[in-house]
Amino acid sequence: MKALITGGAGFIGSHLAEALLARGDRVAVLDNLSTGSMQNIRELKKQGGFEYVIDDVLNQRLLAEMVDDADVVYHLAAAVGVKLVVESPVRTIKTNLEGTQVVLEAAAKKRKKVLLTSTSEVYGKSTRIPFSEDDDLLIGPSNKGRWSYACSKLMDEFLAIAYWKERKLPVVIARLFNTVGPRQTGRYGMVIPSFVRQALTNKPITIYGSGKQQRTFGYVGDVVGALMALMDAKDTQGEIFNIGNEVEISIEDLAKLVKKMTGSRSKLVYIPYDDAYEAGFEDMPRRVPNLTKVKQCIGYQPRTQLAETLQNVIEYERVQLKA
Ligand code: UDP
Repeated sequence: MKALITGGAGFIGSHLAEALLARGDRVAVLDNLSTGSMQNIRELKKQGGFEYVIDDVLNQRLLAEMVDDADVVYHLAAAVGVKLVVESPVRTIKTNLEGTQVVLEAAAKKRKKVLLTSTSEVYGKSTRIPFSEDDDLLIGPSNKGRWSYACSKLMDEFLAIAYWKERKLPVVIARLFNTVGPRQTGRYGMVIPSFVRQALTNKPITIYGSGKQQRTFGYVGDVVGALMALMDAKDTQGEIFNIGNEVEISIEDLAKLVKKMTGSRSKLVYIPYDDAYEAGFEDMPRRVPNLTKVKQCIGYQPRTQLAETLQNVIEYERVQLKA
C-alpha cells in the first residue's frame, strides 16, 4: 500500500507518515513547507519506502502524478491556526478551497480514496455540547476573520461529499478537535506549544480572555491511528467523523498545570481577545466532540490523557530549546 500525504511535513502529517511507515506502508509526502518543516520529516528521510516533494498542492500536474502513483490520499495540506487565519485570510481561503479542489479532481480521475481532514471549527459558536456530526452549524459573520477558516473547511467538506455522490469518489471526512503533541508549533497561536515554551523559558504564560473557556485535547498518536483506521474501513465513504478527546480543561487550569509540570517561575497574564487576535474576536466557551460514531465504526478510544500529552510536549520542547 502506498499513501500520498499532502501536508505530510506538518505536525499531524509527519506523525501520520511515521505511523504508516511503521506498519510497512510506503509514503509519499507533498508539502510546501508553509507551516510544515523539514525537521519534522528528517528521521523519515532515512527510511526505505519514504519519498517527499517540496511543492504546492496547487501544482496540478505534479499532484496528478503523485495521486496516480499512490493507492490512497490523505489530504492534510491546509492553512491552520487561528492566528494565521486571522492574519492571512486570503491565504487561508485560497489554500483551503483550491487545494482541496485540485486533490479531489485528481483523485476522482483515478478513483483513489481520499481522507479529508476538517476541523471542529465548523461547529462554530454552537452551544449544543457535545457536538455531533449531524448537528446544525453556527458560524459567525463574514467580517470576522476567524470564521473564514470554518467556512473554507466546510466548503471542502461539501465538495468532498459532492464528489462522492456525483462521481463515486470514495471520500471520508475527519473533523479534528484540538489535536496536540510534539512537533506542533506555537508560531500560529496554538495554546499548548505556546504555554510550554513560555513556561520553559520562564516568560509570562499568556491566557487569552478570562481563561474560563474550555477545550478538549486529542493526542496526535491517537488521532493518526483513527485516520488510518478510517481510511482502511470499507464503510466510511461519504461519512463525517469527529476525532478527539472528551475530557475538558479550562485554559486557565491548563496554564497552571503546565506551570506546575515544568516547575516554571512564569507569571500567568491575562490578555484581552482584542489584543491577542483582532477587535471583536469571538472565541468558543466550550468545544466537546461526541465520539459515538467513530467509536462504533472503528473502535476508536482516545488512550492518551492530557498529563501524558503535556509530558511528551514538554520533553520535546526541552530538546528544541537546547538545539
Ligand atoms: N489561547 C490562550 N493563549 C495562547 C494561545 C491560545 O489563551 O497563547 C487560547 C485561545 O484563545 C483558545 C484556546 O487557548 O481559547 C485554544 O486555542 P488554540 O489556538 O490552540 O485552538 P482553538 O481552540 O482556538 O482552535
